[in-house]
Amino acid sequence: MSEIVLEIRQLTKRYKDITAVSDVNLSVGRGQIYGFLGPNGSGKTTSIGMILGLIHATRGEVRIMGEAVTPRQNGPLNQVGAMLGQHGFVPYLSGEENLLMLARIHGIVGKGRIKEVLAQVGLEPAGQRKVSSYSMGMKQRLALGGALLDRPKLLILDEPTNGLDPAGMREVRNLLRTLADDGTTVFLSSHMLHEVEQICDRVAVLNHGTVVAEGNVAKLLERPAATLVRVPSPEIAATMLRDLEGVSSAEVVQGNDVAVSGVSAEEVVAFLVDRGIIPSSVSTDQTDLESLFMEITKKGADS
Ligand code: ATP
Repeated sequence: MSEIVLEIRQLTKRYKDITAVSDVNLSVGRGQIYGFLGPNGSGKTTSIGMILGLIHATRGEVRIMGEAVTPRQNGPLNQVGAMLGQHGFVPYLSGEENLLMLARIHGIVGKGRIKEVLAQVGLEPAGQRKVSSYSMGMKQRLALGGALLDRPKLLILDEPTNGLDPAGMREVRNLLRTLADDGTTVFLSSHMLHEVEQICDRVAVLNHGTVVAEGNVAKLLERPAATLVRVPSPEIAATMLRDLEGVSSAEVVQGNDVAVSGVSAEEVVAFLVDRGIIPSSVSTDQTDLESLFMEITKKGADS
């Protein structure tokens, strides 16, 4: 991997008898867009709190650009821009004035940087308008602008496309891609699987505080597609299909549908027809991150 910007080792957080985060390990390379996925309560916010030195880890460590981060040792956070939760802009001030206020807090002087950032997030023409007239997508881009003021090497974003319409999501996605191409590393948490699939190079899937899958998005999705057959007695058909040579799994997935992996759709149909079972429909279930996620988190819940 290229230069490692964020490294997390054995990160664990326990609150009395609740383990919010358990033994999380991951590395994020320079210029990557890394997705941190998980259902509600899986430990994303707690992990981000530890990455940002806001929460004490029970065990393990966070390193940014090779330097350890803890609540007492937050020097490396100078290189980090974060966008978390509600934005809290002053609605009767313009976008530019809001950024100016933020810039002063960060000790950045001069309007030059504000103009640059407004252009970077595509808000240059709207910079003079009151924030109260902004769409959700514009507010989100302004918040990203705020996180970019200090030219961070690492951007940490909590649900950056939350509440956005498809056009707003696309704007944010394009902006993140441009930033990453310019060498900014992006670490984002999300439950918007479809979005993550489109934006991220790599993902970690978190469930009950534990990473249950991690890797390159394309690789994680590189699995054989399943054939879905709709039959009158799905349980019986699934049991029979498990005897077909090459079948790796045959499960009733919903209603009368059986998902069969490991053999071609033709083999499935021929096998069933031979046994007097005529499927009323046959389709292919392409693996996407959403179904992979459901499968992984369901396994976690079952165990
Ligand atoms: P969401 O998407 O809903 O924000 P999340 O993935 O960010 O969820 P966390 O907020 O990190 O999850 O919570 C992980 C677990 O730790 C949950 O069971 C939560 O109830 C618990 N938890 C979080 N903070 C505390 C705390 N201060 N005290 C006790 N338990 C906590």
